[in-house]
Amino acid sequence: MSLDEIAGEVLGAARERGTYRRMRVLDGAQSTRMRVDGREALLFAGSNALDLAHHPEVVEAAARAARDFGCAAGGSRLISGNLSIHEELEQDLAKFLGTETALAFNTGYMANVGVIPALAGDGDVVVSDALSHASIIDGCRLSRADVRVFPHGDLDALEAVLREVASTRRRVLLAVDGVYSMDGDVAPLPEMIALAKRWGAMLLLDDAHGTGTLGRTGRGSAEHCGVSEAVDMHLGTLGKALGSFGAFVAGSSALRELLVNAARSFIFSCALSPPQVAAAATALRLAQREPWRRTRLQDNARRLRSRLARLGHSTQPSTTHIVPVVVGDNARTMAACEGLLERGFYAQGIRHPSVPAGTARLRFTPMATHRTGEIDALADAVSEVLA
Ligand SMILES: *Cc1c(COP(=O)(O)O)cnc(C)c1O
Repeated sequence: MSLDEIAGEVLGAARERGTYRRMRVLDGAQSTRMRVDGREALLFAGSNALDLAHHPEVVEAAARAARDFGCAAGGSRLISGNLSIHEELEQDLAKFLGTETALAFNTGYMANVGVIPALAGDGDVVVSDALSHASIIDGCRLSRADVRVFPHGDLDALEAVLREVASTRRRVLLAVDGVYSMDGDVAPLPEMIALAKRWGAMLLLDDAHGTGTLGRTGRGSAEHCGVSEAVDMHLGTLGKALGSFGAFVAGSSALRELLVNAARSFIFSCALSPPQVAAAATALRLAQREPWRRTRLQDNARRLRSRLARLGHSTQPSTTHIVPVVVGDNARTMAACEGLLERGFYAQGIRHPSVPAGTARLRFTPMATHRTGEIDALADAVSEVLA
């Protein structure tokens, strides 16, 4: 088959399913108000939850790092790219999370496809939730371990799997999201951790959306659930609430050494660039120094959920700043998305395979700096376009 024929086949099928994707073009400084496809809009999409990506201190730190160190790390960490600023950022992240060490990865996606195969391989078992992020799923596939998936949040099913594999398998890894990225619910971490301990499984917590946004000091979903100390491996991103780019895994010294030696996505890839590292380090400090961002973010999310509920739109099962309204039908979801954009609000419609077929949704991600009037106006506009 030719390339054109393959493209025709794949894209034709996507069009037929109503899942054909096209990229929008955004313009302007990363914040609550941007131009989307040429139209001025309030941004209720994306992951810049604390509005740190264009913070003057973050921008200045990145610019200074570019001037002082250059725009590239100049190599992979194990060759020539391990700069002192990488080590400093990792120490800051470890201190933030209360772990011995942390190790940076280039993205959360790359962290999952690096960490999971470093811990589990042929003959081992990875246990994961049915709604796990695509990067956990791909990490599982790359690992060649047996993958056991339990229904979303089903602790009895999780225990049944853990009990079954406990006596026959040497290595069992439980890999779960802290905050489900398309539903906004928080995993039942205390129960999951207790089960992992009881049945001898390691726990990898992918807290991409919880990092900086949840918990008393912003450490994330484990802190929110009161179990920070009990997590073996915290995975977080620098590209979401922490306003930069990249990711990290925090845990013991043994974990860091293991990953440096065995995580292929760490070993065989150029290190994060100095501006990215400096931006992340500064944003991390700001997130800690300005807890109002976290508080306002959760206040805004709560306000949006309750306004939508009052207007008859369920945002179940969200309890965080990821606020979905499930529409169901693909075409209706995308029409609602366009309707919102015409009214000056941007929130992307999400379809299969990002979410299970038949559960297409509008996914709203309010930010710390949206004004309450803007939240209320969004809720009213959602009601209009779904009427
Ligand atoms: C966004 C996300 C990732 C990927 O992180 P990137 O840094 O964007 O690659 C991984 N896991 C979860 C749960 C996420 O929400």
